[in-house]
Amino acid sequence: MFKIVEFSHLLITEYYKKYKHTNMTFIDATCGRGNDTIYMANILRDNGHVYSYDIQDIAIDYTKNILNQLNITNVTLKHQSHEFIDEVSIDLVIFNLGYLPNGDKKITTNKDTTLKSIKKMVSLMELNKEMIIILVIYPGHSEGLEESNTINDYVLSLPSNKYLISRYQNYNRATAPYIITINKENK
Ligand code: SAM
Repeated sequence: MFKIVEFSHLLITEYYKKYKHTNMTFIDATCGRGNDTIYMANILRDNGHVYSYDIQDIAIDYTKNILNQLNITNVTLKHQSHEFIDEVSIDLVIFNLGYLPNGDKKITTNKDTTLKSIKKMVSLMELNKEMIIILVIYPGHSEGLEESNTINDYVLSLPSNKYLISRYQNYNRATAPYIITINKENK
């Protein structure tokens, strides 16, 4: 069936179809090898821009090369931690957590900075009631498990009458990656 990253892309596509408007802003909080960034840039085309963050040179350089080869121009790469996301009017933000595929497994997202960044994104939902936060979480390695627990504690602490938290997972695979989405509850 669908791999978890494919499923996150399905969510992005369906979000775009449902909430499409002019000049959309999508954020990739973890650029990595640029797969999510390129996917979003191709969906948005002339209708919006992707801002893509990563702390590693290798991720930014790798993605810059592919964007050039594909002639994709609606992306700004930011060599910065996602704690410093400074776009304010955001439609969609995706955090595909963990470490760079085929990269240094010691450089992974960190539960404290991830939580700080997610909280900042949640606060921005006051400005755009249709905003979605997509978290792709990897509990199969020790730091990832801590991050997974931290995120679950936080999202379940949000008031359920204000936020809708959804979880998409392979139900019979305890350590498989899974997705959490955060939306403002539309009443
Ligand atoms: N979205 C990527 C793709 O489509 O290829 C995959 C992302 S990869 C699983 C995780 C990335 O998060 C790594 O490239 C890592 O350098 C990056 N990262 C780790 N901590 C970060 C932080 N504080 N801010 C931004 N990126 C971070």
